[in-house]
Amino acid sequence: MNDRATKKSRAMTRSPQTARSPRADPATDEAARPAAEILDELHQLRTENAQLRKDAATLRQSDAWATLILDTVPEAMLVVDAQDRVVRANACANEVFGFRPGEMTGLGVEAFLPDRPPAEHSGHPARPLDTLPSCAVRQGSESQGRRRDGSPFPAEIGIGSMRMEDLEFRVVSVADITERKRDEDELRIAAIAFESQSGMMVTDPQGLILRVNQAFTRLTGYSAAEAVGKTPNLLSSGRHPPEFYQQMWATITDKGYWQGQIWNRRKSGRVYAEWLTITAVTAADGQISHYVSTFSDITLNSEADAQIHRLAHYDALTQLPNRRLLQDRLAQALATTTRHELFGAILFLDLDNFKTLNDTRGHDTGDQLLVEVTQRLLLGVRESDTVARLGGDEFVVLLEELSKDADEAAALAKQIGEKLGASISQPFQVNGHDLHCTASIGIGLFHLRETVEDLLKHGDIAMYHAKTAGRNTLRFFDPTMQARLDERSALETELRKAVQQHQLQLYYQPQIDDTGRVIGAETLLRWLHPQRGLIAPGDFIPLAEESGLILPIGLWVLEAACAQLKAWSAQDSTRELVLAVNVSARQFKQADFADQVTAVLDASGANPARLKIELTESLVLDNVEDTIEKMCVLKTLGVSFSMDDFGTGHSSLAYLTQLPLDQLKIDRSFVLNLPDNINDGIIVKTIITMGRSLALDVIAEGVETEGQREFLQLHGCHAYQGYLYGKPMPLARFEEFLTASAVRQKVGAGGAP
Ligand code: C2E
Ligand code: CA
Ligand code: CA
Repeated sequence: MNDRATKKSRAMTRSPQTARSPRADPATDEAARPAAEILDELHQLRTENAQLRKDAATLRQSDAWATLILDTVPEAMLVVDAQDRVVRANACANEVFGFRPGEMTGLGVEAFLPDRPPAEHSGHPARPLDTLPSCAVRQGSESQGRRRDGSPFPAEIGIGSMRMEDLEFRVVSVADITERKRDEDELRIAAIAFESQSGMMVTDPQGLILRVNQAFTRLTGYSAAEAVGKTPNLLSSGRHPPEFYQQMWATITDKGYWQGQIWNRRKSGRVYAEWLTITAVTAADGQISHYVSTFSDITLNSEADAQIHRLAHYDALTQLPNRRLLQDRLAQALATTTRHELFGAILFLDLDNFKTLNDTRGHDTGDQLLVEVTQRLLLGVRESDTVARLGGDEFVVLLEELSKDADEAAALAKQIGEKLGASISQPFQVNGHDLHCTASIGIGLFHLRETVEDLLKHGDIAMYHAKTAGRNTLRFFDPTMQARLDERSALETELRKAVQQHQLQLYYQPQIDDTGRVIGAETLLRWLHPQRGLIAPGDFIPLAEESGLILPIGLWVLEAACAQLKAWSAQDSTRELVLAVNVSARQFKQADFADQVTAVLDASGANPARLKIELTESLVLDNVEDTIEKMCVLKTLGVSFSMDDFGTGHSSLAYLTQLPLDQLKIDRSFVLNLPDNINDGIIVKTIITMGRSLALDVIAEGVETEGQREFLQLHGCHAYQGYLYGKPMPLARFEEFLTASAVRQKVGAGGAP
């Protein structure tokens, strides 16, 4: 501005001269001029001088104003002259370009703004700023600035141009836009990233969707317009319980993000699995400003996972959960039970005759039957209940949340168990066959503080009790069952020892003919337990049968009986005695049973004709042909056979005629109420008649009274066994009994007329 001020002041000094020009030359006129005129001029000069000083002050003041304004502008401002030299730079310019105040003055502007805008008019070389017409302003062109140290920076340049008389100057504003550029780049990168292959969704802190990308639309089926303004609930599959989402938000609040697999639903309704990351975006003030969700469809992966999961957790034949999955479900059920204090129940279900069916009809049919059973079980329970297959013909039904009341829960479980049992006992149509099947069901109730193992054990024990209670039935677990079971297994261990330590003993119960003569005895097993004392066979024979111990025991009985027969053969008084030995089904079913008996007879030297084997109807019926074969082999040796407990089974004349039997043994239950019970009387008479027509001996067991004996004798039964004569007794007592009865016989015979 100094320049301009000088020019202006020169112009001003010229103006009074111009005003004085019409007058004569002052040098020649000086003397002639009057003093008043000179004084007047002097005054005028003084006034002009004062005016000039005043003007100069005004100029200085406005220059200071201009400096103040320029330095306040937060942008670099350069004033340049017609030669593009800096005549003035404001404080910000010094700072941006890295100069100290005043240092930029006089420097060419190319040093700071090396980029020339494209030449708009040819002819003379383009200069950075010469593209503007006079008094024009150009805003916002982007260029490059260069600092004193040579480093470039992105700049936005505005140029104002002024031409005044012969003076031309420009004001150039330069903004350092490094940060803005960086922000723009980031935005551009973010925009590209946002349109990536992953679905993305941005919500506000309240969860309203603000923005979604194209992948979102591709993956979910919802357009941006459909999604924006809604909440992510739009995608909810309903597969996750509320606790799942609570947990998710708790993690986001805690850690700032959540990651995991989630099932969502497409617009089309299809549920898909996605891998989801939710990140909370925090603003400068620490408050959450947005949530960004990124997800990708992992349904394919999940399907592979699901396949593996299926194989590991489901039974291949029935597609039911297997033991492993059942254990998981049980653990969950126990957790909910504990939370809601509701009783649940576990039903153990075992098919009663599956093994036989599988063996006789073939495995294909067996498998098919298991599938059919599965269908019936599934039909019989609620959808929320679990039906699992443990393997073989064992199923488990898990009934959850039955009731808060134990009795009510038990009643419900029983009702469902009975319904399932009834549905299974309906005939099945498999491969053109009508199959009949029943189930034994054990029920365990569960409440608080149980373990999965306990639960499974309880169901199993209860089922076992249902089996022993006669199959096709249902039993509840109660703690005494457990005690009994524990006792059983202890007993089994002891029985094993009993065989080795000779704690087993044969008792003899006499068999008498109608002359009162002892014709023989039935051997009945006793266990002389060192602590428990005498144990009756009813208390250990079933256990021995189940554990297989009956095989060595049965063999021992045969050996002991044959040894006794051999011993008796030495004396006339006992040589004729016949010993009846009980043989259990399992024992008789051994393929080499006949060989075993033969070997024992040979080894002992006993007369086979003195050995009688007692079989039961169920044993015989199980496989009639095999039974007949074995019986025939032994019969040729001279061994005889008696049908024990006759009348209690499904007696059928057809098989009776086929079997090479020697004797029918009327069951104790028919004898008990003779002679008063008319029905029993008819049965007994029928058996006797049947025996006679088939040329079989008939013996009655359980004869306790003279009245019973008379009735039997009257109707043609001439052999008796029972307390009327004697209880089963040890050998020594039996031999005493023999002697005493021989004496009685003699006396009787002697006394007879
Ligand atoms: P079972 O073969 O029917 O034996 C007859 C059972 O009736 C015997 O019971 C005998 O003591 C009992 N008894 C005999 N007369 C009377 C009577 O007048 N009144 C009453 N109330 N009962 C009478 P026990 O000795 O307890 O034997 C029970 C069952 O154990 C036998 O029934 C038999 O099935 C089985 N058993 C006994 N010994 C053996 C054995 O060595 N091997 C096999 N496999 N089973 C055996
Ligand atoms: Ca018997
Ligand atoms: Ca019997």
